[in-house]
Amino acid sequence: MVNLPTAELLDELVHTSIEYASDVDEFDAATLTATACERIAAPRIGEAPASFECVLHSTMDLGSSTWVMGTVVYAHFRARPAGDDFTMDPARLCPLGRMPGHTFCTKMNVVPRNRIEVQALRTAVATAIDEPLTFTEREVPEPGPGEVLVKITACGVCYTDLDVLQGHWPIARFPVVPGHEITGVVAATGPGVSWPEAGTSVGTQILGDSCRHCDYCVRGEQILCRQKRFTGIVMDGGYAEYAVLKADFVIPLPDGLDPVAAAPLMCAGLTAFNSLRQAGITPTSRVAIVGAGGVGALAVRYAVAMGARVAVISRSNRREAAAREMGAERFIATEDSDPAEALRAWDGGADLILNSSPSTSAAAATFTGLVPDGTLVLCGYGPEPLSLPAEPMALNRLHVMANPSGSPHDTRDTLAFSAAHGILPEFTPIDLRDANTVLDAMAKGDSGKRSVITFN
Ligand SMILES: [Zn+2]
Ligand SMILES: [Zn+2]
Repeated sequence: MVNLPTAELLDELVHTSIEYASDVDEFDAATLTATACERIAAPRIGEAPASFECVLHSTMDLGSSTWVMGTVVYAHFRARPAGDDFTMDPARLCPLGRMPGHTFCTKMNVVPRNRIEVQALRTAVATAIDEPLTFTEREVPEPGPGEVLVKITACGVCYTDLDVLQGHWPIARFPVVPGHEITGVVAATGPGVSWPEAGTSVGTQILGDSCRHCDYCVRGEQILCRQKRFTGIVMDGGYAEYAVLKADFVIPLPDGLDPVAAAPLMCAGLTAFNSLRQAGITPTSRVAIVGAGGVGALAVRYAVAMGARVAVISRSNRREAAAREMGAERFIATEDSDPAEALRAWDGGADLILNSSPSTSAAAATFTGLVPDGTLVLCGYGPEPLSLPAEPMALNRLHVMANPSGSPHDTRDTLAFSAAHGILPEFTPIDLRDANTVLDAMAKGDSGKRSVITFN
C-alpha cells in the first residue's frame, strides 16, 4: 500500500512523457508520485472510482496495463478534492482495451522503446480579463468540415496575447486559449479537406477565418474582411498541445525552416515583412525602423535583405551594436537627439518609417523626418491617438498607414523570404507552464527575446 500525497501530485500533473522504468522494484513512494503522473494521458476522467490501492508490483511490466494504471491514478486524483491523500486499488487496474465505459483508455498510445506519448491536451486558458491563465487538460478536439487538427510544435508569446488578457480587445471571447504564432504538424483532417494531408508541417497567422465571399476575401486579402476572426482571440489558439484550425488558413512550412524558430514569423515576422511591403519599400528606399525589439529587429533584417538602406531609432544606445550588426547604417537614440531632425540629416530623410514600438507618440515624433511623398507605417502603436502636424503633411504629400498583420498569401511570402535569406528571430523556448511568468514580465516592460512555448 502506498499513500500518495495529492498536493505533490498536483504539482506533477503537468509533466509530460518520461522514460519507462521497467524494474518496478526501483520504485518507492516518492518516485511513484512523479512517474504515475508523468504517464498521464486521460482527458475524460470524471467517472473514476473513488479509491485505489497500489498494485504497482503486479502490473508494472512492459505491457499496456502499466499505462492504464497511470491513467487510473490520474483519474482518481482528479476526481477528488485537492489536499486529500489516496491509494490505488488493484481491482481497478485493467489492461488497455478492457475497460468498457472508460473511453480515455482508447486514447492511450504506447510507443516503441517503452516510452509513452501523452495524449491529453495540455491547455492554458484565459478565463477573464486581468486573470492569470488557467492550466487544464481537455479532450483532443475533432476537426469539423474544412478544418484540420494540428499537433502544435511551438507557439510564440506575442504582445497581442497580453493585450487580450489586459482587456484591450473588446472582441475577445472568454474563455479562450490564447496564442496565434503557431507551428505544428497536421494530425487529422476533417470532412472535405483535401489539403493539407496529415503529417504536413504547417503554421498559421493570427487571421484564423474570414467570410470567403466578400470583395477582399475573393482578392486574397482576407485580412481586410469585415467578418475576419482571429486565432487566440475569438478562436482557440496555440497555448495548447493541439488546435483545430481552418484548413485554408494554415500555411505549409518551407523545407528546412526550423518550426520552433518559425513560430514568431507567423505574427512578428509577418507584420514586419508585410508592413514594409504594403508601405512600398524598394531597393533604393531609406527605411527607418522605430523600436529595436523583436518586430523591429526582424524589420531591420527584412529591409536590409530587400536592398534598402536602414536606420534604427531607439530610446537609448543599448541596441546599437546589434542593429549595426544586422545591417543598419544609422542608429538614432532619441534620448540624445530629435529623431525627425536626425532623419533629415540622413541624406534628406527617410522614404519610409516603420513604427514597431508600442508607442504612438514615438512614431509621431519621427514624422517630419520623412522625405516628400514618404510614408509612416504603424505596425506597433499605443492607446493614445496619433497626433501629426497637418501642414508639413500637406506640403510634402506625406502618407500615414497602418498594417494589421496579413493574409495567408502574405504569410507564405514571409516564410519563403525568411527561409531564402536565413532570417529567423531570436527567441527563448519556454514550457507552457511558464506562460504566466513570461506575460507578467512583458506587462512590466521586459522587452527581451521573444518567448516561444514548445511542446515535445
Ligand atoms: Zn470576407
Ligand atoms: Zn501577434
